Amino acid sequence: MSIVNAKEITVEAARGKYAIGAFNVTNLAQLEGVVDAAVEKKSPLIIQTSVKPSKFLGADVLVAVYRTIASAAPVPICLHLDHCTEVEYCKTCADAGYTNIMIDASKQGFDGNIEQTRAVVEYCHQVGNISVEGELGTVGGVEDQIRVAEDEAQLANPRQAVEFVERTGLDIFAPAIGTAHGVYKAKEPKIDFARLAEINELLNGSGVKVPLVVHGGTGLPEGYIKKLIEAGGAKFNVSTELKRTMIDADYEYISAHREEYDPGKIDVAIRDAVRKVVGRWIQMLGSAGRA
Ligand SMILES: [Zn+2]
Repeated sequence: MSIVNAKEITVEAARGKYAIGAFNVTNLAQLEGVVDAAVEKKSPLIIQTSVKPSKFLGADVLVAVYRTIASAAPVPICLHLDHCTEVEYCKTCADAGYTNIMIDASKQGFDGNIEQTRAVVEYCHQVGNISVEGELGTVGGVEDQIRVAEDEAQLANPRQAVEFVERTGLDIFAPAIGTAHGVYKAKEPKIDFARLAEINELLNGSGVKVPLVVHGGTGLPEGYIKKLIEAGGAKFNVSTELKRTMIDADYEYISAHREEYDPGKIDVAIRDAVRKVVGRWIQMLGSAGRA
């Protein structure tokens, strides 16, 4: 049985100074590519879905697929709901069997964020072995239905971060440090490494308690990834790159085989392209061979 929550595997990662990738999927071919890469690299894995695809496919359907694959896989796998702004849908996914739930109440103000995050933490811990991720400050760019202009993105205040974690009881924590969703416009994005390191010292200085999450993985230079792991990043969310990989692989295959009508071959092209990209991420994050 390789079904795990995100906290178990990210605590190990934080201790070992590597990170686990949370790879976004919207369909089965992508999901197979992600899992194949983790199995090939012997890496722990977090499969991530946004709210829209989760509702489209159905939380129960996704969990059935996840449990079938994860039960048979030789590596630990978590199923993560990303950036859910609705407490009720967080509960729906917890009931269905997701093993990590991210409540994103970062737009609710400090006290509102605490209240909603704590409600989800209490619910998930009561339902079972489900970890909860919360966010403080805001990540720039677009994630599902949430749009934040990059200059509006507010970075997490370290003192508030400690209060937020204590008052919510959350398991893993995503402080805003300047990373963004989508594609970085600047070649060298402005990331506040020192802020992440300070938050990590305050929360985990005397032993890893609340592993830290870095959102907006797509496009971060490899040197930045190493520095972010050094500063405490133990989970990296990668979404945009996988969406692009899927659409490009799909488009390229169909363009090159316009007279062929064999959907299975398109799926294979997508699976293989995704496997390569995820394999490269696993190498960069240092999680290969850790399962
Ligand atoms: Zn995110």
